[in-house]
Amino acid sequence: MDSLTGPIEGADHREVGGASVDIVRVGNGRVKRTVYPPGFRWSINMSPNVDTALCMHAHVGFLARGRIAGAYADGCTFEYAAPQAVAIEPGHDAWVVGDEEAVLIQFDSEEGTARRFGLPAEHAH
Ligand SMILES: [Zn+2]
Repeated sequence: MDSLTGPIEGADHREVGGASVDIVRVGNGRVKRTVYPPGFRWSINMSPNVDTALCMHAHVGFLARGRIAGAYADGCTFEYAAPQAVAIEPGHDAWVVGDEEAVLIQFDSEEGTARRFGLPAEHAH
């Protein structure tokens, strides 16, 4: 078994838009592992499940496998390749690069993630 993607004891497991999401509550926050398949794109696969065109969550964590890239509404872009720490501000699209799945391990507090980690409420300059 692959310890990076195998079942997590005690996790709340969900399949959302083709991504596999496992969430474990820790104190007043959450540890979250998401496995994104090759070809995954937030604006195509996730946007239909929410009512925003861009992802309005902050993402703080560690990309343990694969490559991801993304863009903010103003055209700024980002790209991460594992192993790499990740900090993405609210207000972005993002997608998997290449033919390998991406495994992102995040620390969040749901709607309060940006505030907790000192990120802006939405990407800006
Ligand atoms: Zn920008």
